[in-house]
Amino acid sequence: MNYPESLSELIEAFKKLPSVGEKTAERHAFAVMKMDEEDSEFFSNAIKNVKIKIKTCEKCGNLSEEKLCLICSDENRDSSLICVVEDAKAVILLEKMGTYAGGYHVLGGVISPMDGKGPDDISIKPLLKRIKDEKVKEIIIAISPTIEGETTSLYISKLLEETDVVV
Ligand code: ZN
Repeated sequence: MNYPESLSELIEAFKKLPSVGEKTAERHAFAVMKMDEEDSEFFSNAIKNVKIKIKTCEKCGNLSEEKLCLICSDENRDSSLICVVEDAKAVILLEKMGTYAGGYHVLGGVISPMDGKGPDDISIKPLLKRIKDEKVKEIIIAISPTIEGETTSLYISKLLEETDVVV
């Protein structure tokens, strides 16, 4: 059967989420339809706000609502140590472990010639600038061990070979 237009639009919206097919999308859409007005407002505002408010930290590239993320603005963290990660999700994962007290640098991807992604397409130059400006002593490379990830790790290690920075 054909749904009323607004309902089929909502179903289409849910289908944009990863691993949500027709049936799941329908179930979610019906659940939203049953919400009271307050909940549905909360739901739609949350979606809107995350788009409007979340930016990337000017320093490390992590997710942030301010110019600097919570980690970069935390004075208790060791700024001589930077952990280099692929994306902001990795920061969240590492933070959940709760044992690391240095800073981060989010590359925003890895070097992948197959996808036309070279060193200049990810945040490597800003990383080198930070290492210089912030007197970084040590960096930890925490990139996934795929071929592209390994290439990226090697590339960064090579760049730092003739510096005093410990990799
Ligand atoms: Zn930051």
